[in-house]
Amino acid sequence: MSIEIKALAPAQRNSCPKEYSFGATFSDHMFTQEFDEGKGWHDALISPYHALTLDPSAAVFHYSQEIFEGLKAYRKPDGGINLFRPLDNIKRFNRSAERMVMPKVDEALHLDAIKSLVQLDQAWVPNEQGASLYIRPTMIATTAKLGLGASTSYCHFIITGPAGSYFSGGLTPISVYVADELRRAVKGGVGEAKTGGNYAASLYASEEVKKQGYSQVLWLDAIEGKYIEEVGAMNICFVYEGKHIYTPELSGSILPGITRDSILKIAPTLGYEITEMYLDIETVLQDIKSGKITEVFGCGTAAVISPVGKLGFKGEDFVINDNQTGPVAKALYDELTGIQYGTREDKFGWIESL
Ligand SMILES: *Cc1c(COP(=O)(O)O)cnc(C)c1O
Repeated sequence: MSIEIKALAPAQRNSCPKEYSFGATFSDHMFTQEFDEGKGWHDALISPYHALTLDPSAAVFHYSQEIFEGLKAYRKPDGGINLFRPLDNIKRFNRSAERMVMPKVDEALHLDAIKSLVQLDQAWVPNEQGASLYIRPTMIATTAKLGLGASTSYCHFIITGPAGSYFSGGLTPISVYVADELRRAVKGGVGEAKTGGNYAASLYASEEVKKQGYSQVLWLDAIEGKYIEEVGAMNICFVYEGKHIYTPELSGSILPGITRDSILKIAPTLGYEITEMYLDIETVLQDIKSGKITEVFGCGTAAVISPVGKLGFKGEDFVINDNQTGPVAKALYDELTGIQYGTREDKFGWIESL
């Protein structure tokens, strides 16, 4: 199946504005394709950004059958554009689809859709350092029917929009509160899938901790309330003695981040040891207090690496590395963004250039 392109006339197209806000400014075009049972995927189309028309009884509104992805296009110094591990995002999209009983999309077509869309809207890929074009593939259940059961029709769409550098003043540590009562996901549930329901489930705690001056929530496992899972939309890493990195092993309720996976592979090339294991919150807090843990940072596509300067738990604050960005977070950030923007060697073959 090929993608039909109905683009705006060149004179009507825009480019990335000087002022924009991440998640609220979108590029000129979008991709859509439809699925119907018995017919499969059809009508793959790139057309001007537009509102979708859905029946109020569409399944996505009532039972949250939906999935999404997040990846970025980066401007290289020579003006070219890089995508970072796009096929890994597409494969994860299909794994999420399977978990949510949604149809898989053709990997090659999805990649072609992303590339064609970014190519067409290339003037929207920002040039400033640390900025990028955020790409949001989504799939929603569209069958107009109230009644439990998987939908029989779906819409797969992709929108894009500029994302500024997360850290205008360098990497700034964030403060994070450990949720001791509320839970995000349970093993056997949908925590591994990139689906909106996980976010709906986490909003209450996120808003509560913001009122207390923390920017994100650290989630613990839902069964024992003991093991560290992840932070907001990021996985998490703990650095011992400035050289050994630990990250929670994938438990079935943690989202398997591509940034996390990239750090697992990059860290040894920079001379750090890295281990995936179950991490007990009490031990970690003790090790922060004793100074054995020298850095904590979150990792995900949006922020890349986000140092954690303070962890709050049951009313007590645990400060890490004097609330400063540490050398391990900085080294990983520089290496990872170097690969993404094409200024450092892509040893792992992660880059797909347009
Ligand atoms: C997307 C996401 C991540 C990070 O994944 P990346 O592939 O690194 O962007 C981590 N946790 C949650 C809950 C997420 O939705």
